[in-house]
Amino acid sequence: MLFEIRPFERKIFELISLSAAELGFPAYVVGGFVRDRIINRPSKDMDIVCVGSGIKLAEHLASKLRPIPRIAVYQRFGTAMIKHKDLEIEFVGARKESYRKESRKPTVEIGTLSDDQRRRDFTINALAVSLNEDDFGEILDPFGGMYHIEEKLIKTPLEPGKTFSDDPLRMMRAIRFASQLGFSIDEQTLKSISSYRNRIDIVSQERITIELEKILMSEKPSVGFKLLESTGLLEIIFPKLQKLKGVDYVGKQGHKDNFYHTLEVLDNIVPKTKNIWLRWAALLHDIAKPQTKKFDPKVGWTFHGHEAVGSFMVPKIFKRLKLPLDHKMKYVQKLVMLHLRPISLTKENITDSAIRRLLFDAGDDLEDLMTLCEADITSKNPNKVQRYLANYEMVREKLKEIEEKDHLRNWQPPIDGALIMKTFNIEPDRVVGIIKDHIRESILDGVIPNEYDAAYQLMLDKAAELGLTPVNPGD
Ligand code: ATP
Ligand code: MG
Repeated sequence: MLFEIRPFERKIFELISLSAAELGFPAYVVGGFVRDRIINRPSKDMDIVCVGSGIKLAEHLASKLRPIPRIAVYQRFGTAMIKHKDLEIEFVGARKESYRKESRKPTVEIGTLSDDQRRRDFTINALAVSLNEDDFGEILDPFGGMYHIEEKLIKTPLEPGKTFSDDPLRMMRAIRFASQLGFSIDEQTLKSISSYRNRIDIVSQERITIELEKILMSEKPSVGFKLLESTGLLEIIFPKLQKLKGVDYVGKQGHKDNFYHTLEVLDNIVPKTKNIWLRWAALLHDIAKPQTKKFDPKVGWTFHGHEAVGSFMVPKIFKRLKLPLDHKMKYVQKLVMLHLRPISLTKENITDSAIRRLLFDAGDDLEDLMTLCEADITSKNPNKVQRYLANYEMVREKLKEIEEKDHLRNWQPPIDGALIMKTFNIEPDRVVGIIKDHIRESILDGVIPNEYDAAYQLMLDKAAELGLTPVNPGD
């Protein structure tokens, strides 16, 4: 069967073909690029395998391109990379791999195209397109990858136990592809993931997290997380998430299963945002429910404080997953912490001060918080969903109204720490914080207006209470 070469890539295919012929290295496009073209998915990285030196082929090709591109050579791996237009083309010689038990890094020998196809993880990733004169454009498919694309099936080319035991990262990749492509995993392949799940221990956390992020960014992340759960991988790589699964009963009263609820929230947020940190927040918003779960005979199951406990758990989770411990983590913490606040504003008789506080606490992330809250509605009763959404619409209006009046987003109180220290000629000290907090709280509570003069007077009053006198009164 012939591969459909798109007009804009014909030129580069032909140039690689010519370079390969001149060097006498048969060359092929392989792997993800071929798969993605066939299923019509955008793909920017192209892998070329040749029977010969990949580095030499890259150099020879580069000399034919205008302008001559820079070649990134990785001697250690025997690979070379060229950026051409918006393609990243990687060149490597065909290889044969053998594995040792304790490492997922194989010993590599020079091999044939067929050896190279055998070392690939799934049949849909083992397709090659010939760039050679006698069969240019022909799809070489030794393991039925084309059929499996049609069947939407992820299946290992060799015996799955060997594939997964050799490189257990492939278990994560199988599940990630299922989530990304909407494919199912072949029964034997899936069973094998369960059997070899403990081998995931030899995979670095960074690699595991990359796959988790790809699942999070897929169209239906629940598919991936359910597979991680059912194969037993989740328990090993993310025990806190596993803990959300299950329902406790007292008599006939159960609570909802927080694992499946969380996955619904995650799927709900997908069409609303491509921001991966907002998706992390959706995944983690209820993470402390197991720890805070209590049964109260009067009201049933409660999870008091799960938002605060959950928010405190985020840094540890980020550390374990090797996610960045910076403002992105803080953002996730903040959303987890605040995720119940908009609900509390749907009650009647809400004071302006409660609204002001949320504006102040959420700042620029208010819109994302509302997106999370709306995704958090997972009721199966359409009337309830309508009512909750209408309530949030009202909250949005109130927030807008108060924001227009008070401009509290990104607001800084009119008196800062520096002014307090200067006025009373003091060094940084606990009292500076006390005075600052008092001014902020008084403005948010509406005790004084959000104005410099009123705040200045309040600073003097509070300081006097604390036994401080201004150095230059009236300054
Ligand atoms: P994506 O680019 O979306 O991550 P991909 O399938 O293109 O998906 P790459 O990491 O770019 O993945 O790898 C390119 C090809 O290399 C794959 O299609 C597959 O044939 C092979 N490959 C990658 N990782 C492995 C692995 N761990 N085991 C076996 N083959 C692999
Ligand atoms: Mg790729």
